[in-house]
Amino acid sequence: MINNQALLDSSKNHLWLPFTQMTDYERDPLIIESGEGIILKDINGKEYLDGYSSLWLNVHGHRKKELDEAIKKQLELIAHSTLLGAANVPAIQLAEKLIEITPEKIRRVFYSDSGATSVEIAVKMAYQYWQNLGKERKKKFVTLSNNYHGDTIGAISIGNVDLFHRVYGSLMFESIKAPFPLVYRNPLKDEQEIRDCALSELRTIFHDHHDEIAAITVEPLMQGAGGMNVMPKGYLKGVEELCREFNILLIVDEVATGFGRTGKMFAVEHEDVQPDIMTAAKGITGGYLPIAVTLTTEEIYEAFYGEYEEMKTFFHGHSYTGNQLGCAVALANFKIYDEEKILEQAAKKAEFIKSELETLKHLAHVGDIRQAGLMCGIELVQNKDTGEAYPWIERIGYKATLEMRERGMLTRPLGDVMVFMPPLASTEEQIRKMVEIMADSIKAVTEKEKS
Ligand code: PLP
Repeated sequence: MINNQALLDSSKNHLWLPFTQMTDYERDPLIIESGEGIILKDINGKEYLDGYSSLWLNVHGHRKKELDEAIKKQLELIAHSTLLGAANVPAIQLAEKLIEITPEKIRRVFYSDSGATSVEIAVKMAYQYWQNLGKERKKKFVTLSNNYHGDTIGAISIGNVDLFHRVYGSLMFESIKAPFPLVYRNPLKDEQEIRDCALSELRTIFHDHHDEIAAITVEPLMQGAGGMNVMPKGYLKGVEELCREFNILLIVDEVATGFGRTGKMFAVEHEDVQPDIMTAAKGITGGYLPIAVTLTTEEIYEAFYGEYEEMKTFFHGHSYTGNQLGCAVALANFKIYDEEKILEQAAKKAEFIKSELETLKHLAHVGDIRQAGLMCGIELVQNKDTGEAYPWIERIGYKATLEMRERGMLTRPLGDVMVFMPPLASTEEQIRKMVEIMADSIKAVTEKEKS
């Protein structure tokens, strides 16, 4: 029998939670014990709707029978063996499936275990690609303002979330920053003008530095942790065209947007973009086990192909690369996509979410609502007319999510942007309930602050 108080004390004494000021956890601890469908249950039996898909990864809900079974079945064969120099059956089958569902030019799969590692690998591949081709000057990376690619050193070097990254200043390598075409608070009102302006600045950077730029990294269609910002229509395609014109590799980071999150299997499909390198993780195993992939074209792969003495080898790998349990559950995950027509459902649910979120628009402190499929951000502001933000020290976003928790829903804020990314399996009734909880919590917190 677990003693809840002892567990709580132990968590405070021994755990160090990611992205968490531990004093917050000490004041408002939460220990999850189980899950079923899109409901999470804590050690006291309180239930919560999983409004952020357990950090944007859970797709079909928790304890999905087919996924549980796939892991059990694989366990009867083997849990893990290394992929270093030796393939394994589920890793081969999953690679084949991934090639089938990713953009046409993608032909190769390199495994790792988190979004950040998949990005590290993309960076190293792009860098070495040009070295292997003898273009030694092409070593720099272009990245967009507010990009987020994970928390390892390479990923933060091409990331631009000042709050998370500034403390590591001298540890990072320098990348060239280009403006993201932010629509909210932009003095230009026309989205196409905003897009063209950002593309024109990017063109100047590419024009002036193309002989030293290896690649540009983008989060396609919608930026995640950098503020949940949607790209104006045509921007992504414009970036691809500039990459082709100036011979620069296009790396798209689909870690957050991949696997149906934006209503299509991958966000690049919205603009028919063919990346050179693509990263994916999170939803790949339905949110069950840590598998990530860096996917490339055959052209990239060929630059690393040859005899050992040619020194073109990609010297990179991790202990759990291509883990059998993870690959097996990912395969079962994609079977569910086919059988339950998840993408069709996702597109319909996105429309439903859009209409439900309309009800938040009239709230006095909701400044902007941004959405791409089942990926949504709701920005709270002090002054709706001017877009003036709350002083950061007030932590309105954090307070609103605590209020939501109290009312039976979990999510994490990004500053004052409320993240709403429910599992793709959420029903309309559950979506409606979550939007109601968000509305009530936002009102409670913003009204409290006013009085
Ligand atoms: N890239 C993007 C676009 C992400 O949103 C994230 C995580 O949120 C990452 C990379 C990092 O993934 P992970 O947390 O699995 O390392």
